[in-house]
Amino acid sequence: MTTMTRNDCLTLDQGDTLAGFRNEFSLPEGTIYLDGNSLGAMPKAAPARAQQVITSEWGTDLIKSWNKAGWFDLPSRLGNLLAPLIGAAENEVVVTDSTSVNLFKALAAGLQIQASKKETVGRKVIVSERSNFPTDLYMAQGITRWLDRGYTIRLVDTPEELAEAINTEAALVMLTHVNYRTGYLHDMPALTAHAHKQGALILWDLAHSAGALPVELKRANADFAVGCTYKYLNGGPGSPAFIWVAQRHQEAFQHPLSGWWGHASPFAMQPAFEATAGIRRALCGTQPIVSLAMVECGLEVFAKTSMQAIRAKSLALTDLFIQLVEQRCSHHPLELVTPRMHAQRGSQVSFRHAHGYAVMQSLIARGVIGDYREPGIMRFGFTPLYVRFSDVWDAVEILRDILDTADYSMNAERHAVT
Ligand SMILES: *Cc1c(COP(=O)(O)O)cnc(C)c1O
Repeated sequence: MTTMTRNDCLTLDQGDTLAGFRNEFSLPEGTIYLDGNSLGAMPKAAPARAQQVITSEWGTDLIKSWNKAGWFDLPSRLGNLLAPLIGAAENEVVVTDSTSVNLFKALAAGLQIQASKKETVGRKVIVSERSNFPTDLYMAQGITRWLDRGYTIRLVDTPEELAEAINTEAALVMLTHVNYRTGYLHDMPALTAHAHKQGALILWDLAHSAGALPVELKRANADFAVGCTYKYLNGGPGSPAFIWVAQRHQEAFQHPLSGWWGHASPFAMQPAFEATAGIRRALCGTQPIVSLAMVECGLEVFAKTSMQAIRAKSLALTDLFIQLVEQRCSHHPLELVTPRMHAQRGSQVSFRHAHGYAVMQSLIARGVIGDYREPGIMRFGFTPLYVRFSDVWDAVEILRDILDTADYSMNAERHAVT
């Protein structure tokens, strides 16, 4: 392995074809932001867009803006902008509600589709991973408890156990493409094909893959997908999530949150619910337009590049981070939790350290912003649109200094959000 210097990293920055995109984001001086996997940075276009939506569209045009400013169509328009990033087509995605709520819709509809077919009617098992993001598991628990029809959740402890757990008892498989804690990336085409071979449907959570790496939902023949827009897609705090339903399931896709925005003619004000054709049936009620409008600012940046270019830089950044930590902090007890194999790695790197929380607090105090997840895991997210190779160098130097001087023991007190 070659030994890198800071100058080598500056040379990499000079040759970086994505370097110019950093200027599309507002990043505070002196901050190395390695938490775009939790809350993406603000696109510089966002304040003016917010101002326009609030003062002009709302303030001046008032209710006319539902038509004139395209508010009503916004969930679909944003879905169409997002579609190419996740290998979906027009009219297959809407941006709406939270990931948790969209999980509920997809779980409910998926179970119902399985219960309506005579080959799968008796299936009562939802397969997932114990290490899945908690809200995914909580939503599955909520729906099985509420349905009260004998559904159970089968959780595996390692990705290797999935193939066996996804058998002919499985109704639905619910997996997060990139694990939020370890950065482990699943083989979407292989697992989807396996689930289908067993007669199960598969729901992918793309929270840590949409905008982080190329996703090919259609090519993988997936059934359903959901994900966040406030992480790698830079849509802003709490910006609405998305839901994708494969064309072949859209007609049968019926979820119990059948609000008026999913109605075939919402302004006919009919007493009986009749789902609209296509993906808009995944909508429920009136959308948070100000938040939704911010999602467009993030998606507009992606429209100027390709997920292939983003993936290439992401792997280069995460490779460099792993290499530098292992070379420069080799005398400290840091354990790499993220797979080394590119095919199994998302856009983050996690290291475990006995004092991970305190070390992360010290990093944050010195301007290197990552985050912490139990147990002992420091997460570093690499967002190729605005993270530089020299940032990787500088972050590792600060980490090394903190560890060398044990300058973290006073930072053990926990905040509510870690
Ligand atoms: C971030 C994340 C969520 C967040 O769900 P919200 O409803 O937006 O709070 C859900 N699932 C996964 C896998 C995540 O990483």
